[in-house]
Amino acid sequence: HPRTAPLRARAEIDLAALRANVRTLRARASGAALMAVVKADAYGHGAVPCARAAVAAGATWLGTATPEEALALRAAGLTPEQVRVMCWLWSPGGPWREAVEADVDVSVSGLWALAEVREAARAAGRPARVQLKADTGLGRNGCQPADWPELVAQALRAQAEGLVRITGLWSHFACADEPGHPSIAAQLARFREMTAYAEGEGVRPEVRHIANSPATLTVPESHFDLVRTGIALYGLSPSPELGVPADFGLRPVMTLSASLALVKHAPGGHGISYGHHYVTPGETTLGLVPVGYADGIPRHASGSGPVLVGGKWRTVAGRIAMDQFVVDLGGDEPEVGSQAVLFGPGDRGEPTAEDWAQAAGTIAYEIVTRIGTRVPRVYL
Ligand code: PLP
Repeated sequence: HPRTAPLRARAEIDLAALRANVRTLRARASGAALMAVVKADAYGHGAVPCARAAVAAGATWLGTATPEEALALRAAGLTPEQVRVMCWLWSPGGPWREAVEADVDVSVSGLWALAEVREAARAAGRPARVQLKADTGLGRNGCQPADWPELVAQALRAQAEGLVRITGLWSHFACADEPGHPSIAAQLARFREMTAYAEGEGVRPEVRHIANSPATLTVPESHFDLVRTGIALYGLSPSPELGVPADFGLRPVMTLSASLALVKHAPGGHGISYGHHYVTPGETTLGLVPVGYADGIPRHASGSGPVLVGGKWRTVAGRIAMDQFVVDLGGDEPEVGSQAVLFGPGDRGEPTAEDWAQAAGTIAYEIVTRIGTRVPRVYL
């Protein structure tokens, strides 16, 4: 989509901001390498363009949840010579062999996964790069401490057979976005114990890693060899409690806007949108913003989501529908086609993704990640 095309809606993706964020994060990472987490289509920003930009700015790893996402990066031409790729959310019967052949590092949390990856490596005729994941307290994916000795022993056996190379030992935080939360120190201590055990048994990992964005920003002792940053790469703060992006020198990457599809007069007492949850308080003008929940605009922000139109903040009037919502323009008459900016970096007077998160009772991660495929991404 050329920048000048008259689009119903657009998500501008500022790749220069993304590159600057990568450099800022690397500078904070205590010398650790940086993994750009580009799962979920780079949190809605577009996996391949963001991955390329991150690599150009110094990321040496890319991280995804699913193997399909990892393989798509390789298929798009991000080669093993350029960048390591790791994925961590496997289901039985997953594309292990394709991952081995594409030089993707695979995460293993349990014996079933180790068994499947061994078979895939045998079929591929080359060793799989395996990273053993420890559950140090998140209580989600990862191997429990009690099961760790058996997983380490079997992985070492597979390595001795030439089917596996144990490239990493890793884990994930539960509460890194809550500074001083006691679980942070507890998880770090357990991570040190579990990695020390594996190393004592003879594992020689290339990388040990546990830090996500909040830990990268605020817990330096968690950086080890590699930090895995997602949300901060896209210039968003992991949580309002931690601060705003500018506090960390980060700049939001996505700006979401739409062109007003209609501007019209309405009398007072006019019910607006499904359910008539907004009624015009007096004679006014209304603007129609042609994006809705099918585009990822959260319906929970009905009556509260902010939009910049003609230099003023307006609020969603009534319900957000599947494809559109209305703003009360209070008598202003911007031209049809004028820009309504839902969110962006915030320094041009527009709301931020965090403002929408507050309006919808969610987190900024969800706001950007859910912006739908019907909204073209325009890369700057
Ligand atoms: N590492 C893992 C295993 C994840 O699942 C995620 C995302 O949730 C990240 C790192 C990146 O987290 P954040 O976006 O907070 O940096």
